[in-house]
Amino acid sequence: MEYSPKRIQKLLDENGFHLKKMFGQNFIVDENIIDAIVRKADIKDNTLVIEIGPGAGSLTNKLSSVAKHVLCYEIDHSLDCVLNTVLEDCSNVDIIYQDFLKSNVKEDIRKYSYQYLYVVANLPYYVTTPIIMKLIEDGILVDKIVVMVQKEVGNRFKAKPGTKDYSSLSIFLQYYFEIEKLMDVSKNVFLPKPNVDSIVVSFQRRKNKLEVKNESLFFQLVKDSFIQKRKTLRNNLKNYDLEKIEEVLKQYGYDLSVRAEALSIEIFVEIANALI
Ligand code: SAM
Repeated sequence: MEYSPKRIQKLLDENGFHLKKMFGQNFIVDENIIDAIVRKADIKDNTLVIEIGPGAGSLTNKLSSVAKHVLCYEIDHSLDCVLNTVLEDCSNVDIIYQDFLKSNVKEDIRKYSYQYLYVVANLPYYVTTPIIMKLIEDGILVDKIVVMVQKEVGNRFKAKPGTKDYSSLSIFLQYYFEIEKLMDVSKNVFLPKPNVDSIVVSFQRRKNKLEVKNESLFFQLVKDSFIQKRKTLRNNLKNYDLEKIEEVLKQYGYDLSVRAEALSIEIFVEIANALI
């Protein structure tokens, strides 16, 4: 497969395909970027890779050469001619033409034998967070996620305490994963060129699992703590046992006038555990 804006446009034209903005179709047309994503994903032989949104198959093609199987979900059925052409020689790729958010991934992956499960994708920006949330909420045990996302969204995923991007979403995701930025990606490598900047982020399963006694209480506490970001914990957590919360905060040199954005995930875990 040849990669360049001209070649990919020609491939789309030959197959009568028109790009659709509503599906977040910004295809990568630079082979160096695709190679860098695949290299950084560090895919082992015995890996099943799930790709959400193969588009014109540029990334899929390269994934196919390093993974054991590649399972793709593509919402736009009219890409089938393009994908059949591009992936003609890739016998280890399966494509399910379906909205990933409505798919039964656990059932779909059952038929494969593999040692590692990765998600590698250039995600459609309009559904980035729902896709990551689905992977977690459906209990799909992915070892690693390497995805291209809108820069602002990626920054929120990996944000640390005390930064403007830190939110309940950062804590929710970092409860499961260690998240880091792998690289910046220029707008110029896409067809069509998007309005936003992109980064590639990786999510690796946490090595040290946090000892949370009651997960639903922990998540509710975090959500409530950030409900009004500029307000103190005393104001946001009126319905909780504030004495117990203050006891924990004191150990870290804080009191109830602290804002949620200052507190680490470990402190939230301790507070939640103290409330039981
Ligand atoms: N992987 C290709 C690439 O990098 O060139 C295309 C990436 S493009 C940003 C996103 C792709 O996701 C498009 O092909 C789009 O049709 C597909 N898509 C959008 N929403 C989807 C959904 N809910 N489920 C599955 N695929 C979706």
